[in-house]
Amino acid sequence: MSLPVVAIVGRPNVGKSSLLNLLARRRISIVDPTPGVTRDRVSAVCDLDDRYFELIDTGGYGIEDSDNLTEHVEQQIRFAIGGAALILFVVDIRAEITPLDLEVARMLRGIETPVQLVANKADTEAIEHLAGHFIALGFGDPFCVSALHARHRRELMELILERVGDLAPDKAPDPVM
Ligand code: GDP
Repeated sequence: MSLPVVAIVGRPNVGKSSLLNLLARRRISIVDPTPGVTRDRVSAVCDLDDRYFELIDTGGYGIEDSDNLTEHVEQQIRFAIGGAALILFVVDIRAEITPLDLEVARMLRGIETPVQLVANKADTEAIEHLAGHFIALGFGDPFCVSALHARHRRELMELILERVGDLAPDKAPDPVM
């Protein structure tokens, strides 16, 4: 039985690996502030109350070539569109929208796979109002989370499971014989 796949995309350093580790509740990816670090593993099965999905950090594939980040995010998105039931588009709530964030948004616009915008590094409630800026990306209100401080983990898990729920194997329509 295959699990729904949830793919994490976003520019380097927004916290994609950290988010994978948070949701998987174990250290799966190497977290490093330097672009260019190869990752050991990039996917993990996550579960909440006996409901499961497979989470993939698409940014962990290959080496992030800092001279060609656009190509790097393009690769992530091609991969995500290929197999994911849901894409988590991660941004850094403490930063302005960057040209690379805009590039990711442009590539995700118009695809059929649902996209959930996630504002990571919301370490305190006091900065959550900054999430409003990211509505300009065109994917609605971002969901605030802090991978470092494990803020809103359960709520994000619930949201992911709700959004992929329709595609869960036990809810899929019977195949036409
Ligand atoms: P990736 O390149 O998008 O996979 O980002 P990483 O997960 O490697 O994280 C990049 C940097 O951001 C690291 O220094 C992390 O410790 C830091 N980071 C990740 N999540 C958070 C967070 O929720 N809050 C803060 N303050 N820093 C974070």
